[in-house]
Formats: sequence, structure tokens, C-alpha cells
Amino acid sequence: MCYAIPGKVLEVEDKAVTVSYFDEKRRARNDLYELIPGDYVYAQGGIVVQKISASEATEILKSWKELFFKLKEKDTRLASNPKDLRQIANSIRHKELGNSCCVHGIIEFSNHCTQRCLYCGLNSGKKAIKRYRMAPDEIIEAAYDNITGLGFKALVLQSGEDDWYDADKLVYIVNGIMKRSPALIILSIGERDENLYKKLYDAGSRGVLLRFETSNESLYSEFKPGRDLKGRISLIEKLRDTGYLVMTGFQVGLPGQTQDDILKDIELTASLGTEMFSFGPFIPHPDTPLAGHNASESLDLAIDTIARARIMKPDAKILVTTALETLDKEEGLKKGLMAGGNSLMINVTPAKLRRFYDIYPGRASIDMEVKDQVDKVLRLLKDIGRAPTDLGL
Ligand code: SAH
Repeated sequence: MCYAIPGKVLEVEDKAVTVSYFDEKRRARNDLYELIPGDYVYAQGGIVVQKISASEATEILKSWKELFFKLKEKDTRLASNPKDLRQIANSIRHKELGNSCCVHGIIEFSNHCTQRCLYCGLNSGKKAIKRYRMAPDEIIEAAYDNITGLGFKALVLQSGEDDWYDADKLVYIVNGIMKRSPALIILSIGERDENLYKKLYDAGSRGVLLRFETSNESLYSEFKPGRDLKGRISLIEKLRDTGYLVMTGFQVGLPGQTQDDILKDIELTASLGTEMFSFGPFIPHPDTPLAGHNASESLDLAIDTIARARIMKPDAKILVTTALETLDKEEGLKKGLMAGGNSLMINVTPAKLRRFYDIYPGRASIDMEVKDQVDKVLRLLKDIGRAPTDLGL
């Protein structure tokens, strides 16, 4: 099974390659492989992450061909005659980016955290939670199973801010994954040292997922005691300048956040040279200081925010987060994808650990086997005419 369509290299110009699949042409960056025209590759987030043999690629392309054009037709139909904000956003997505949808996996490898974020169920003040850490080899093994076994081409490695994973351990993990099963590795490990991130770049990771949470400085300082917004933004900028693809964004519906704040959040996300917007509804956790907040409007607010972000930034990649699915288990993902979203994540954390990564309550898909989650996502994408591919810019 495969969640991306391979592309054929048409041109190589230093580190930039032009790849094509069916009648689509895309540009991608390559600094991992020797490539010549005629080679076949997988690219994620505009970065070549795997080279595959011509015979394997031809086989996969053959299996996709008929379906691909059917999906495109369906997407075109669903995106025509837009009538409201969300439909307009969807038609812009269709026009700018076609029907491709990134499907990334996420491994939550540790729930230990040194921080005391008021919104988060993992905050270090919370004692009644079973803490876990995956051993480095266990993480490499889990990545291998998901990349080689299940076909994922991009994996987020997420944790609380956990210093137990020092530079040596993290480099070992990234190296280990890249040697055994290359993919786009996206780090989501919080505000760690800039040099540590540089070492991890050299080891082969190419993405970071680090939300700035809110562009409102006073809310930020209130919700993240001991930290300031400028520091986080400056780290995001440095990581971008190192060459990392940046995924960032904010929470929608935080106590005290206004509509104006949200528009500024969207603008800030765009201004950071962001590869993928990642924002989702705030869901109060009962064991945190923000437990009493009424979040009944978060779902609609988050979907409308996807639509606004799409209209403000027509060519953005916009993630539809698990938090949205959590608030509407049946339709949350679909609503997000039909309002301008074009990326999804699947939780591939080992099943026995998933429920302990308790950032907010009731997380969707927590008890589902990865294979079932994948089937569900592929069914949804088929239903709305999207193809799980992301070949480049
Ligand atoms: N330590 C990493 C990862 C944090 S968890 C970091 O600092 O980046 C990933 C994301 O979960 C956070 O960035 C935050 O936006 C989100 N999150 C935490 N608590 C939440 C809640 N109660 N509702 C919705 N999202 C939440």
C-alpha cells in the first residue's frame, strides 16, 4: 500500500529537480540522492525523500492511473459553484493546488515535559499521568514499520520538551531512520537548542513542527509561563534559515483570543515562510488550569479559520488536525478538507502508548489500528476526490 504517487525526474538543475506524474509537473529539492532524468522518486513537502526503481514505480503508477483521473474529476465537481466562505476556500484550494493531499504519520515518542503550558495535559505540573519514553531503537523500529511496512513517506516525531533525548540520542534516532527507511522526518520536540537542531539537520531530518501557539504576546506569556513569544518565533526563523521546512501555526479558541488575534495568527504563520500551516481547535483538558473554559464554538471557529487561511494564502498547505476530528469524530476531517484543508496526519504511535499522550481529552482514533486509520483516510479521500500525494511546490 502506498500514500504517495511516485514522480519521474524530468530535469535536474543542481539541487532542484522537476518531476512529473501523469500530466502534473512539480519542482522539488534534492540533496539526498544522485539523480538523473528518468529516475523515479517520492517527494514530500517539495523534498525528494526516496528514490525507487523504475519497475516498482511503473507498477504503482499503473495502479493509480485510472483512479487518479476519476478523483480529479470528482474534486473538480465538488469544488464548482462555491456559495459560502468554506466552499469558496475549497474552490481556491482546488484551483491553486489541485487534488493532492499530504498524509503524514506521527509518532509521539515521549510524554515527559519540562514545561508548564496551561492548556496542555502533559504539562509538568500534572502528576496523575503515566509518563513514558520510547527507547531510541524502539523509535527507529516503529519508523521502519510505518515507512517500509505501511508506505508512509513523511513522519513527525513528536514529544514533550524532554531533555532525556540529548543530541547524541536524537542524532542516533534520525540517522537510524534515514539509513534503514529514508523519509521526510519532521521534528516536533519543542524549544530545544539551535545547535541540536543543526546536528539533526545534518543527520537527515528536514522538517520541524513548532507552533507559535498564539501571536498575542500577553496570552502567550500567560499560557506558557517562563517563555516569551519572541524567543519561539526567533527559533522558528533560525530553523527555517538552516533549511528546515517549517510547519507552524496556532490554537484556535484559546480563552481571551479574539477574531482579530486569529487573523494576526494567520498572517504570522504566512510571514514565517511556512511550508505547512498547522492549527487546530483548543480543547480544554480537565486537569489543567484552563479546564473551565467553554469551547463549544471551537469546532466551527477552527473550520472557518481554515477557510480564512486558505483565502488569505491561496497556495498554502493546510493541515486538518486530529483535534478537529476529536470535536467531530464523524465529519471533522471531511469538513476541514472541504473548507480549504489539504493535509492530514495519522497517529502511528505504538497502540499501547497512545492514550498516555494526553494533551487534550478524547483524542480521535486513539484505539484504532494504524491500518484501519489508513483505510479510513483513504476512503475519505476517495469520497471527496483527493489523491494522497505531495510531489512538490
Ligand atoms: N513539545 C512540542 C510538542 C507539543 S504538543 C512543542 O512544544 O512544540 C503539540 C501541540 O499540541 C502543541 O503545539 C499545542 O498546539 C497542541 N495542544 C496542546 N494542548 C492542547 C489542547 N488542550 N487543545 C488543543 N491543542 C493542544
